[in-house]
Amino acid sequence: MCEAADCFSLPPVPDMCLSLCQHQGPAVEKDAFSLDSTNAEIRSTGGEAKPTQRSYSIPPAAKYGALVGSMTNQISAIHLTRQGQPASTSDFFPSLSSPSPTRESLLEETPPPPGPEHAAQAGVEEEELADELACSDDDSSSITGTSSGGCITLPSCLPVITGRRSLLPMTVTIEEPMSLEPGDSQEEQPALVPSLFPRIPPTLYFSTANEKVELLPAEQRRLLKWKMSTVTPNIVKQTIGRSHFRVTKKSHDWLGCWGHHMKSPGFKALGEHQKLNHFPGTFQIGRKDRLWRNLSKMQVRFGKQEFSFFPQTFVLPQDIKLLRKAWEEGGAKQKWIIKPPASARGIGIQVIHKWSQMPRKRPLLVQKYLDKPYLISGNKFDLRLYVYVTSYNPLRVYMFSDGLVRFASCKYSSSMKTLSNKFMHLTNYSVNKKNSEYQTNSDYKACQGHKWALKALWQYLGSKGVNTTLIWEKIKDIVIKTIIASEPYVNSLMKLHVRTPYSCHELFGFDILLDENLKPWILEVNISPSLHSNTGLDVSIKGQMIKDLLNLAGFRIPSREDVVTPCSSASSSTSSLCAGNGERPKVDLSADEKVKRAFYLKQGEANRDLMHTVLDVLTPEEIRVLAESEDELNRRGEFERVFPSPSSSRYLRFFECPRYLNILLDEWEQKYWNNRAKCISLLRPLCQQGVHLGTSDPAHMWCKYSSSSRFEHNRQDVVSPSRARVVVSHQLWSQRNSSIDEDHQQCLDHQQCLGPASPTACCPSSRPNSDDLIS
Ligand code: ADP
Repeated sequence: MCEAADCFSLPPVPDMCLSLCQHQGPAVEKDAFSLDSTNAEIRSTGGEAKPTQRSYSIPPAAKYGALVGSMTNQISAIHLTRQGQPASTSDFFPSLSSPSPTRESLLEETPPPPGPEHAAQAGVEEEELADELACSDDDSSSITGTSSGGCITLPSCLPVITGRRSLLPMTVTIEEPMSLEPGDSQEEQPALVPSLFPRIPPTLYFSTANEKVELLPAEQRRLLKWKMSTVTPNIVKQTIGRSHFRVTKKSHDWLGCWGHHMKSPGFKALGEHQKLNHFPGTFQIGRKDRLWRNLSKMQVRFGKQEFSFFPQTFVLPQDIKLLRKAWEEGGAKQKWIIKPPASARGIGIQVIHKWSQMPRKRPLLVQKYLDKPYLISGNKFDLRLYVYVTSYNPLRVYMFSDGLVRFASCKYSSSMKTLSNKFMHLTNYSVNKKNSEYQTNSDYKACQGHKWALKALWQYLGSKGVNTTLIWEKIKDIVIKTIIASEPYVNSLMKLHVRTPYSCHELFGFDILLDENLKPWILEVNISPSLHSNTGLDVSIKGQMIKDLLNLAGFRIPSREDVVTPCSSASSSTSSLCAGNGERPKVDLSADEKVKRAFYLKQGEANRDLMHTVLDVLTPEEIRVLAESEDELNRRGEFERVFPSPSSSRYLRFFECPRYLNILLDEWEQKYWNNRAKCISLLRPLCQQGVHLGTSDPAHMWCKYSSSSRFEHNRQDVVSPSRARVVVSHQLWSQRNSSIDEDHQQCLDHQQCLGPASPTACCPSSRPNSDDLIS
């Protein structure tokens, strides 16, 4: 477990960019940071300037009573949440009579299940949706929890919290402690994180409660608008509030939104400066039935050895015959768990062992029950891990180093007689909180109560001699393969509905169970994981995670013109703070770049030596992507990038459609993973020259640079650049006629080359149909 002091440092920034670079310009001056409290309305209040340590700012549980008691000295905003009704699930069940899902139906977006997250966020114990989020006259209002001063209202009703067992009513939300006194010892951080590279705009900085964020000059600050949704979690509201975002009602001027998943065509409305916390198509792993279908498909293609991390599952009514067969083969002692295909929070879940217990009248997921879980103090538990994807093409996946361990509140027994005891067999908080034996845990370091920090679990297991690094590696493997299973759907829909990849990012909650041998199994993926925080433990983990996530997301200040006229292509006189048109790279690939991509995609994975040459001549778009990836990695905080990574080459074969940018980043990672300073210094001068923005310099044109002599060593089966040019001209022709996305075209070409007998050929049913390819 990392020492607090180490964990609390900002992501390392090379010396050369420590000072605020030229992007910030003269505008970033102290004088400009006067408080603008015109609209400030702060619901929570604070007192004593406690220089808390980043995410680990929650005092030990034992101190909680005193902490809350002395309201004059300490801030801990506590709100009573509204009672609400979980959303109905019935709308989401497919008709019993519907046939197996077709490719089209799979690509058609279904609203996400009203998961623990959705249902809860809408009501009972989730986020409070405050009235003050309604917009004020200027169409924007401040966001709860800012630390920049303003009027303060004290909550009148305080719960009593004791050291071990919280007497907190379930409807109470604890928010982050934060200090509000001006001039206190809170560290003030610059509002912008400079890029590692020249001529790339900075990104907005987000903090946890123990830091203040400087105010930007008014001109830029006015652009910091956020769109509130009924499901925006408090922890997100507080984090963006500290970075001085204000709420807007308008549809085009907001920069960020943390909201519902939506149907894919809805993504078309996103402007190039806007970021929503979802990708289209992720319900392909976010719905239980789709997750199993997609993982099973991968298992068929790549074998059980690679895809053996999910329990055997059947989706009824379609798989009823297969289930019957498996049931009979398994014998009377087998246990099965039945789940509604699109539900959550343990709703509708039952463990059964008799065929007669099977409900017949509704769609159902029937899964082998993992009946030998690893137990701690006799209790079953599962893990909630936070996985963040910043981009699907190239794929970039991050895992947060901490997470939650959720225990069942009744000691485990494998007796058939106990199967109806949900406090024993289910680990959901929503289920177990109803048990009077349930114990909360406010101390992020403590191995106590029915919820622990993941880091506490690693420490506990480590003390028992368990190789926790190995478990973590296995979990990473599961995460990468599962995200790759969703990749073809997401990229097809991105191509169809999203103007720019900048607009999408997504946090996934992975639920993992460890069996008696500590083998991890995936139980489900949540596409809107709960960020509700009703204990100090939740706040410390989720607060840090959201801060790091928003920093990783890389929010940029748009040019004013972009916001006023969202689709305008007119050039702007943007300030150097903004990512306006002036410094915006062109989006379309040049013919040269297309030729290069086609050439390398044709080679296939086998020709590793040739693949290394992909970095020999870097084209403008490649420089942009590499610089973006380096910047992002530099802002990762306590997230670990798991794809690409030095060891992620082996996953390239699992992509249904090979993608050039994944190959590029993989080669880059192989070459520079242990020398980041070198790759940064390689890209810097190129960005200084503006090559990433587009150039006609032959040094960055692959075709010109690549004389045929460079390929003399190539074997016969290697496609020469001139051959590649022919292929691409054909593709360009196709594109002109049908706008086929080139990665897909190349994917189809690639599959044709491999032939049907190839083990990596796409299974026809899983390949996007031709409609998916038209953009
Ligand atoms: P929900 O979305 O309703 O939470 P899950 O699939 O996560 O549904 O299941 C709820 C709980 O049931 C899990 O947290 C876990 O404790 C238990 N569970 C689910 N599937 C299995 C399984 N195959 N074997 C053992 N326990 C399971």
